Amino acid sequence: MTDLNELIQSASGIARGVVSREAQEADKEGKWVVDTMRALQEAGLTGLVVPAVNGGLGQGLYALVRISEELGKAYSSAGLCFGMHCVGSAVIAAKATPWQQKTYLEPIARGEHITSLALSEPGTGAHFYFPQTSLVHLSADEFLVNGDKTFITNGSHADSYVVSTLGASADASPDQFSCVIVDAGTPGISWGKEWAGMGMRGNSSRPAHFNNLRIGGNHILGEKGDQLWYVFNVVAPYFLMSMAGTYLGIAEAALQEAKETLLKRTYAHSGSNLAQVSILQHRLGQLWSNVERTRRLIYNAAQAGDKGTADALFHILAAKAEVADCCVDVVNEAMTLSGGIGYQQNGRLGMLLRDARAAHVMSPTTDLLYTWLGRALLDQPILSD
Ligand SMILES: Cc1cc2nc3c(=O)[nH]c(=O)nc-3n(C[C@H](O)[C@H](O)[C@H](O)COP(=O)(O)OP(=O)(O)OC[C@H]3O[C@@H](n4cnc5c(N)ncnc54)[C@H](O)[C@@H]3O)c2cc1C
Repeated sequence: MTDLNELIQSASGIARGVVSREAQEADKEGKWVVDTMRALQEAGLTGLVVPAVNGGLGQGLYALVRISEELGKAYSSAGLCFGMHCVGSAVIAAKATPWQQKTYLEPIARGEHITSLALSEPGTGAHFYFPQTSLVHLSADEFLVNGDKTFITNGSHADSYVVSTLGASADASPDQFSCVIVDAGTPGISWGKEWAGMGMRGNSSRPAHFNNLRIGGNHILGEKGDQLWYVFNVVAPYFLMSMAGTYLGIAEAALQEAKETLLKRTYAHSGSNLAQVSILQHRLGQLWSNVERTRRLIYNAAQAGDKGTADALFHILAAKAEVADCCVDVVNEAMTLSGGIGYQQNGRLGMLLRDARAAHVMSPTTDLLYTWLGRALLDQPILSD
């Protein structure tokens, strides 16, 4: 059994080294975090959620939060790229056939394969669970994939993509989709330009067009009818927890910046420094409390998810919704506490603020999460629109 503290230490070392070094260039040039992903592979961390029986670390949601948090403190795109790889790995692992274990999970565990998640589409936007990309059954063992995906993180750099598709059956309801694994380089994929976001600029999130892409039946994940099971048992928990960890890391980084500024900033006219101003002490205390309360919510949600408690989904939905507010508020306030220096162009806090804003717009968005939570609490169907 791998010791989680050792994994966190390993991630922390990579975050303070390679990730921090790569962050500036990635943010400035919109360059995918290649060195970061390589370092995570070399440390074995990309096998985090791959079952031990396939050579992976066999960890779950809590470990994913803790590793994503370490990466998020240094650079949020690192957390996003790592997170999407882990969600893709978890989706593959959930019901992997022996062939899928050998072809995907074992190389992932060995640090030789990066995967990613291609669910979002331009047509259905935040409603990623209503894909329109079609999967047509051609013959006994051959299928055709046609359609458009958007915002695929690690796009064109990963070795495979977990793609959601609408089953070909004419009577299929919009949520009756199947997930398939598409290998990079399969004829029929064409990549669009990297998306130039105001933040989260190192993840190479980009669109892809699938034109008569042929896959064998061995690339289909799970059984017909498993779709909602995948959304709520794998995609939502793993995605929400990896993102919650990353955004918690952003909030912690901003809190640290604010604290350092208050300790350092000394006035020439009085010799006093900002750490002695009671209103600023009070505000720093509020920021710390916000981060700590959100941390507890996230850790608790991940542990509930790992234990499979009946109410785990409530906690998981709330955790990602709350961390979005927390990280935007904490970075924003840290910038105020840091004065004009904190407001400088391309400064650390400016970058954290740009990155934090993605928390509200990445699906499931904050609005959708609170709506789903309300529906779940009221025992209503969650995906009604
Ligand atoms: C940095 C980044 C990385 C990403 N990486 C990936 C990835 O790796 N894989 C992937 O599949 N996707 C990815 N996405 C896509 C993402 O998860 C969303 O699907 C996408 O951002 C939705 O964008 P949209 O502009 O189409 O939103 P829209 O669908 O146009 O939504 C606009 C707003 O309307 C709100 N809204 C819409 N319907 C409702 C409703 N019924 N109730 C309440 N509010 C509603 C939404 O919450 C949102 O705030 C990424 C996005 C970003 C920004």
